[in-house]
Amino acid sequence: MTEPRKAIVAGAGIGGLTAAIALQRAGWQVKVFEAAQTLRTGGTGLSIMANAMAALHAIDAHLPVEQAGQAIRQFCFKRQNGTPITRMPIHEIGEQLGHPSVNIQRPLLLRALAAQLAPDTLTTGLRCVGYAHRPDGVTVRFEDGSSHEADLLIGADGLNSVVRQQMLGETPTRASGYIAWLAVTPFSHPVMSEGYVAHYWGRGKRFGLCDVGDGQAYWWGTCNHENAAHAALNVNKQEVQATYAGWAPEVMAAIEATPEHALLKMHARDRPPVKQFCDGHVVLLGDAAHPMLPSLGQGAAQAIEDAVVLADRLTQTPDLRTALALYQAYRLPRANGIVNAARFMSGIEQAESAIACWARELYFRLVPQSSWRKKNLDILSFKGGLQPIPDYVND
Ligand SMILES: Cc1cc2nc3c(=O)[nH]c(=O)nc-3n(C[C@H](O)[C@H](O)[C@H](O)COP(=O)(O)OP(=O)(O)OC[C@H]3O[C@@H](n4cnc5c(N)ncnc54)[C@H](O)[C@@H]3O)c2cc1C
Repeated sequence: MTEPRKAIVAGAGIGGLTAAIALQRAGWQVKVFEAAQTLRTGGTGLSIMANAMAALHAIDAHLPVEQAGQAIRQFCFKRQNGTPITRMPIHEIGEQLGHPSVNIQRPLLLRALAAQLAPDTLTTGLRCVGYAHRPDGVTVRFEDGSSHEADLLIGADGLNSVVRQQMLGETPTRASGYIAWLAVTPFSHPVMSEGYVAHYWGRGKRFGLCDVGDGQAYWWGTCNHENAAHAALNVNKQEVQATYAGWAPEVMAAIEATPEHALLKMHARDRPPVKQFCDGHVVLLGDAAHPMLPSLGQGAAQAIEDAVVLADRLTQTPDLRTALALYQAYRLPRANGIVNAARFMSGIEQAESAIACWARELYFRLVPQSSWRKKNLDILSFKGGLQPIPDYVND
């Protein structure tokens, strides 16, 4: 009997955990090393869109996520005073595709994924610091001086990935031009029906309000900032209240209901797309490969797609380097395309001049629902099937 192949995953975030589940289910021996002392227990919420739910379904890992979250039932864009601009047919597309988009608290998502790993897969409190290629594998080095050998290293270590740094060198982050506040808090409001998502648009400011189930709401707010990359990140609830003063009653009530200690403030950033996700027996996925701005709610979804496609290519293609090249050839155009689209959308959403905001609203009001359906369908469809091997992979 042949020995199972061994993979080391650096980072127990959404992408790393999904990759570990997918590879274990394909018969690999997998170890996940997480720098933090525990899986992230804090943090706020996010939407796991239908394409990611379909990818999770492909490895039979979707149900615990569906159960821990709240399916999106209505998704609308509104003016800052709460009057509607348009709605997005996210729920209808989910029904068409057979996979809902799900709002979920981040710690519950991580727990739902980690619970699906084989026992003793995860080591926390151990940071990966680098790797060395071997002819038939890779040696992975850790902060405590230890090292482990494997057939494959998956760099799933997020925005500031050390695996990416070693593979690609310095690739600076790009600021978004705005700062963001985020929170999950017990909150309900008469306008928030089950599975509610609304994005409220102001001038250079936005606010998102989402039902994450169990009487909890996830909200985020953005605000243009001259020096967004270096803005102080100390949290002050009064600053948030002042930023959204006079907005829709549910927006102000959600902020009011949030204790200051539950608020996070952050810089959103991405990196310019690159043309390489793998080198030898080392591969990048998720934010380590293609960090993006949150405007399309696709960062985690693309990490999940990466993980599932990677495991599929490794299963279908016996030669590991060819499998990684296939993964890269398939994932790079889609993920990088979404990095660019998210930055483009971010520019529209954070528009500040009166004329730009007027044009934005007019456009969003005039586009018919059938067009929104078409536009969203592509991004929300997971096409994980094996693609023909491009000629250059074997060159
Ligand atoms: C404000 C905001 C809202 C968002 N909303 C959405 C949304 O609604 N939907 C969506 O799909 N995406 C959303 N995203 C994006 C999403 O959060 C990320 O794209 C996603 O978390 C990426 O997952 P990942 O596993 O690649 O990286 P991470 O989630 O960053 O995980 C990386 C892990 O690696 C660990 N680590 C780091 N360095 C090392 C090391 N050297 N060794 C070992 N471990 C290491 C970290 O501690 C962490 O646990 C949002 C992002 C932001 C900023």
